Amino acid sequence: MTNEPTTASRNGASDISPSDRPYYRSVGNEEAVFKAAFRQGLSVMLKGPTGCGKTRFVEAMAYDLGRPLITVACHDDLTTADLVGRYLLRGDETVWVDGPLTRAVREGALCYLDEVVEARQDTTVVLHPLGDHRRQLPIERLGVTLDAAPGFGLVVSYNPGYQSVLKDLKDSTRQRMVAIDFSYPSPDIEEGLVVHESGVDHSTAAELVRFGQAIRKLETGGLREVASTRVLIAAAQLVVEGLTVREAARAAIAGPLTDDAGVSRGLNEMIDVYLGDPTGQTG
Ligand code: ADP
Repeated sequence: MTNEPTTASRNGASDISPSDRPYYRSVGNEEAVFKAAFRQGLSVMLKGPTGCGKTRFVEAMAYDLGRPLITVACHDDLTTADLVGRYLLRGDETVWVDGPLTRAVREGALCYLDEVVEARQDTTVVLHPLGDHRRQLPIERLGVTLDAAPGFGLVVSYNPGYQSVLKDLKDSTRQRMVAIDFSYPSPDIEEGLVVHESGVDHSTAAELVRFGQAIRKLETGGLREVASTRVLIAAAQLVVEGLTVREAARAAIAGPLTDDAGVSRGLNEMIDVYLGDPTGQTG
């Protein structure tokens, strides 16, 4: 029993029910696979590097399927109680407050556990009876087992390239799910995304995408993560605000990707090579 403001604010859960379809550009058969899995009551795992569109994809799918979306950003302190619920002190009273997973189960919402491998394994155990044909959530503290309402769907995401073996998803969890692989979109699609999200012109978007592709080809560049679509969009947003392409790339791409002085020098040299500045400014 704890005295905290709300369960939702503590575990970073957010609920989204947008009025317009979130902009998502399909890159393969991912929409068909997701919708087929949903209709059959199968859970889905989205695998792919950070910033490649997984969250946006789930938002678009929730919209198309007419389901509310409850998102939980997983972290290594996340407890089963954060997901399921807990007793809280409200004044003199002790009240049970549903966690985001329980709310999704009751409401028939899509529950999206972002970066699920960050969560402790004892936390993910609660997903087993939900993820398989039982579609049930046992709540020990209440002594009840809830049947998931029609429309409930469980979606998890993780980055297979960036995690320790220990934190890898348990096989018993994986085998209860349908997998959809995500990777960075092809250059022409990515250019369109950068233009759409930032409003930058096509030629600047193309330059940023070429630079992003070059970083992704650095196999051993000392980077934990390569340039995602997200950082390319952020750079384009800075250009829209009047920064030069080089300034924008340093601030939104090179800076966030590394703290290492040597690696950073290397990236800045690449910026000078790839992102020519027609005004002659060095940024
Ligand atoms: P992830 O959840 O994989 O970390 P996001 O869904 O947050 O990544 O995507 C990062 C950004 O990239 C989004 O804000 C979105 O603008 C853009 N994006 C990437 N891929 C797509 C896509 N296929 N369609 C639309 N936007 C995309």
